[in-house]
Amino acid sequence: MIKSQFSKENKDDGFDVANRLVSSLTIDEDESEKSLRPHSMDEYVGQSKIKRNLDVYVTAAKERKDALDHVLLYGPPGLGKTTLAHVIAAELGAQIRVTSGPAIERAADLAAILTNLEKGDILFIDEIHRLNRNIEEVLYPAMEDFSLDFVSGKGPMARSIRLPLKHFTLIGATTRAGMLSSPLRDRFGMMLRLEMYTPDELTKIIVRSAGILGIAIEQSAALELAKRSRGTPRIANRLLRRVRDFAQYEKLETINVEITRKALSLMDVDELGLDITDRTVLEAIIDKFGGGPVGLDTLAASTGEEASTIEDVVEPFLIQLGFITRTPRGRACTKNAYEHLGKRFSDD
Ligand code: ADP
Repeated sequence: MIKSQFSKENKDDGFDVANRLVSSLTIDEDESEKSLRPHSMDEYVGQSKIKRNLDVYVTAAKERKDALDHVLLYGPPGLGKTTLAHVIAAELGAQIRVTSGPAIERAADLAAILTNLEKGDILFIDEIHRLNRNIEEVLYPAMEDFSLDFVSGKGPMARSIRLPLKHFTLIGATTRAGMLSSPLRDRFGMMLRLEMYTPDELTKIIVRSAGILGIAIEQSAALELAKRSRGTPRIANRLLRRVRDFAQYEKLETINVEITRKALSLMDVDELGLDITDRTVLEAIIDKFGGGPVGLDTLAASTGEEASTIEDVVEPFLIQLGFITRTPRGRACTKNAYEHLGKRFSDD
């Protein structure tokens, strides 16, 4: 039940992802992503720890007829934060209002959103780390005491006015929990970190999505796709759509492993799901900086990528694979990365 969609920001600012199929950021074609979005906890695959916790809190809040405590969801893009916010709202039978940090330009905009919330409503703020600090301050009393603080008048005549708000739940999503100010972070009752998905979980997601898209896929092909999706449902769904195009072009009724491998290789996605951007970053560390450590900004300058893109999108999976380590002096490649790229590793 979506009451209104204030804005769904294009998350691609400052980064040309149009050509990057394994990017986990939203690109235009992902508008059709909405049709693939699970609507209930049962349909929401994986994240079992988070789901177990939420089940307890949601059930308790429902029994008490109270609003759920504020929730912060964090983790790399495409792991299901927005989807989970909608699922929580559906489980609570609550209305959800959606906005994002960069979309709220003035404190008054946020105040207007907050005063319009009904009891039990959910306010979802995507990219909450990008809220302006003075706007963010409006949230402190709103989250803690369900009130808005205003200053009316100027100088000696100024008076502080407190306006009560209905008991709502704020769900914030961020790729960087570390970038949240501590007063904001401390006001969330739950901080839930989304994990990357296992190939088995992604296989389930792919098979479900193929059903919705109306295309048959062999289990082995779904697994092959899953293994190359960087642990990320958004990428799994995007690759599935592309492979479907190849299958359709070759007049296949069912997506099989052969067409999957062929399509992925034509898209330059290797057997681990790494694409040209990942390889560029790894090769830069190895060839230009002797394997590292190299500082993030230097690495960004030498690869032509934004530092934030490397940090939010490229690096998490390379770290997960054990290809990159983060040291106090910067990023370094491991022996595994050398081997994957077919380069000689020497530890002296
Ligand atoms: P985020 O907000 O973290 O960037 P989204 O919630 O927009 O990610 O998820 C991207 C897409 O991936 C969704 O449209 C949905 O189709 C799919 N997806 C995400 N998480 C799951 C999940 N747990 N189970 C099934 N599909 C998922």
